[in-house]
Amino acid sequence: MDVTKINKTVVVTGANKGIGYGIVKSLLTSSKSQNTRVVLTSRNTELGLKTVNGLLKDCASFNAAERLVYQQLDINDTKSQENFCDWVAKTYGTIDILVNNAGVSDNSDKFDADVFDFTFSTNFYETVKFTERMIKLITEKVVFISSSASQYLEFGKSEIKAKFLKENITAEELMKLSKEFRNAIESKTYKQTGWPDNCYGMSKLFLSLWIRYFAKTKEVTDRNVQVYGCCPGWVKTDMGGQNAHKTLEEGMVTPMYLIELEGSKIQNDLQGQFFENCKVSSPLK
Ligand code: NAP
Repeated sequence: MDVTKINKTVVVTGANKGIGYGIVKSLLTSSKSQNTRVVLTSRNTELGLKTVNGLLKDCASFNAAERLVYQQLDINDTKSQENFCDWVAKTYGTIDILVNNAGVSDNSDKFDADVFDFTFSTNFYETVKFTERMIKLITEKVVFISSSASQYLEFGKSEIKAKFLKENITAEELMKLSKEFRNAIESKTYKQTGWPDNCYGMSKLFLSLWIRYFAKTKEVTDRNVQVYGCCPGWVKTDMGGQNAHKTLEEGMVTPMYLIELEGSKIQNDLQGQFFENCKVSSPLK
């Protein structure tokens, strides 16, 4: 392939397996993305390079050798975030699309401050920090893989739920609420104060509401960067488990729809929205 034909660069986080891997593979094989370069990132270099080698073989006929690039990125490591941004700036100047996919779920039955810290650091706090660090290097779009798990949260009190349903909730309010949630878990008062006992669903609720806020900030709108959140559905991966309803290919439909959505300008009715099955939905019902 003539490398000069490459007209787009997409970065995917947490792509050594699961949905991130599926997105990289879909981008390599999709007819709409034949001139796209894909940067596969992983926190573990060995696992990332193993996946890259597999893709180089599986997608050889799609010019993977010229279009697939590897770079280490651990969302929870500030130095790794900084190194990654420096590498993007030095190598490409800017990238077109960032897909924030890296995420964790604690599969134990525990519900305590450690589970909160583990889940919220990757799924919310560090994803936010990484996106804020990257935004000046992005020219077209940010797509977040969030989750509709937030729709099934059970709030014991409607006053708590109302705080999340408030229109135009700010990042500052969200950060404050996340601390309140952690305090309620730590002091074991979450039940009586009406918080749900689910760190994963809550981390994705905070993320989806932050996405909505971030999408409307001047920093984003001045740069004309489109911002979307989505749920891939319940997908058979290490996180989703084998009872999940969707195959990896089926789970790619909504993320790929948003990544390949045409149009270079922000559409106000879609900006910052949460998508399910390729349609605007709500992270909280
Ligand atoms: P998965 O198979 O467990 O893969 C998660 C990926 O994220 C792995 O590559 C993992 O790397 C990476 N990751 C975790 N922490 C990271 C960090 N600190 N820095 C960089 N990468 C990190 O899960 P999945 O099902 O593909 O999930 C991908 C995303 O989709 C997540 O955000 C998840 O919440 C969301 N989602 C999944 C489902 C589902 O049913 N599967 C449904 C809704 C939303 P390691 O291999 O090193 O752990």
